[in-house]
Parts: sequence; C-alpha cells; structure tokens
Amino acid sequence: MVDATELPYIAALPKVELHVHLETSLRLRRLLQRCDPDRPLIGQAHLVSDPSRFAGYDRLRRLRYAERANRLPDFAYTRANIAAITAELIAEASRQAVRHIEVRVGGQRAFSVLGVRGMLEAMADGAGEARRLGLSYGTIVTVIRERGPEEADRIIADAVAASDCAVVGVDLAGDEENYPAGLFSAPIARARDAGLGITVHAGEFAGPAGVWAAVYQLGAARIGHGIRAIEDPALMERLCERGVALEICPTSNVRLGLVPAMSAHPVGTFLKQGVPVTINSDDPVLLGTTLTGELACIAQAHRLGAESLVNLQVTAARAAFLPAGERGSLERAVRLKT
Ligand SMILES: [Zn+2]
Repeated sequence: MVDATELPYIAALPKVELHVHLETSLRLRRLLQRCDPDRPLIGQAHLVSDPSRFAGYDRLRRLRYAERANRLPDFAYTRANIAAITAELIAEASRQAVRHIEVRVGGQRAFSVLGVRGMLEAMADGAGEARRLGLSYGTIVTVIRERGPEEADRIIADAVAASDCAVVGVDLAGDEENYPAGLFSAPIARARDAGLGITVHAGEFAGPAGVWAAVYQLGAARIGHGIRAIEDPALMERLCERGVALEICPTSNVRLGLVPAMSAHPVGTFLKQGVPVTINSDDPVLLGTTLTGELACIAQAHRLGAESLVNLQVTAARAAFLPAGERGSLERAVRLKT
C-alpha cells in the first residue's frame, strides 16, 4: 500500500496553488545572477537587523530587507525579465504537478518602473508558459495596507482595467494591526463589483477580529493564512458555513514565529472542524518552500492520509478564482482514485 506521506506520492498528486507571491526582486536577482555569475554584489546586508530577533510582520519585513540589501537597478525591471520569472515560477509549479496556479504581485518597484498595466502585461506574457504546460493560471494584484486606501484604489482601478491580462483577483496584505480592513472597503468593493475574487491576508499577525472584518466588511472569499481564527470558535463556524477558504502557508507561519512548530500548527484542528483549508507555498524564493514540501510537512506532522491530501486539493479547486465551469473541471482533475 502506498504511503501517502511519502514525497513521491505527494510530488505526483495533482495540485492547486492559490497563495504564492512572485517576489519580483528576489526572482529577478536570481535570474540576473544566473546570466552573469560574476556580477559584483554590493550590499549593506550587515546593516539590517537580524530577523531572528523579531517575530511576526517585523520579522517578515526584515527578512525581505536583508534579501533586498543588494538593490537591483531599475533596468532589471524589463518586460522580458518579468515575463521570464513568471514563466519560471509556472514551470516550477508544473514540475510539481500543479494544475492551476494563481500568482500574486504587489511589488512597489515593479509597479513604479513598468506601471501597473505594464507589469500585468509582462506577467501575462510569461503566463503563456502555463498554456504550453497545460495548467490554468491567474494573476492576483496585491495592495499593501500601509500604503493607504488611495494607492489601493489607483492600483485596483488599473487591475480592473486589465481584464485582458489574466487578472482574477485582488489581495490585501501588509500591516493588519495598524491598517484595519474597513479603511479599504471602497477600493475592494470596486474590485468585487468588477467580478474579481477577493482574498485578504488576515489572522496572521493580528487576531481573529481582522478575519471577521475581511469576510464581512470586504466580502473576502478567501483568507491569506487566517491561522488565528483558531482562537474564535464562532468564527470557525462562520468560515465553514460561508465556505471561506483559508490559504495556509505552514513554513511561512513557523519561520515567522507565529507557530512554534509544524506539529503545533492549527491546520489539524481546522481540518477536524471542517474549515475549508488549502495549503500553499507563500514566498518560495524567500522561504525555500515548494508546494510539495509544504504538503509533505503537514502530512507528516498531522498524520494526513491520501484522502485528506486529495481533499485539500479539491477545496483549493473549489476556492479558485475561476469561472464556475472551469472550477468544476479543475475539481475533477485533482480528484484521484485513491
Ligand atoms: Zn502571503
């Protein structure tokens, strides 16, 4: 009998990735260094505080600062390079039997150098790789809370106008503690009215109140992370009733000090209580994650068998920002005879 927690089984499992950031500067750096291995690295990483001394959102910020210390020149942000890193991310997913991927982007530099429209067009060019490899693809545009509702509104207006660039959703991310969901009601409503899917990073660095607000004030169909919903049984019930899926990114939660160990991750309780859960890789280059690896960690730590692993993919297929017919086909594609 096959051991469902073994890597070869999980690697071959048809999968859905809903929460992965393009992480433009990191992927661009890797691309440039591959093309020019002798490129001198001039940086000031030593001036960045040690991320391990911080937890939560502060640690994430410092991890990113440290990685970005060797700042890339603006000329690295070309359409060809953005298309190349998008295609590379899709090819990595395809090698892990991913059947549908939604890639999110919110990089301030890329948006300022190429413009929102230019960036989304470049990603759409790279997404041609998905058609070639036989998986479906969508772009999610991330707006950052601490940059304020006016910037969110401008970016979302451009995202709505870019329906020809495979934009399927809008994501709200950033400092959830100091910039609550209610500030973004108007821009997010604009995205929702235009038919885009709404996902909100919440219940990650702050408590369950942010998840309630994301669902009821912003109409979020999915929650990025949402792990602190575990503190509120009424909220968990509501997530079940409304079918709001949590985009769980296990290594990210452990690395940022939000969960002490994989075995202590609340995902096991969510699954037992019927909360819709999906597993995702978040920031593969920054965190060294893969979707296969994330599923393997969770399967081992929480003793998930083949049926649970397939069910995670079915939940993700149902939560995908795709038209209903395509969601149905995706669901059939990820159901395996076990
Ligand atoms: Zn994220």
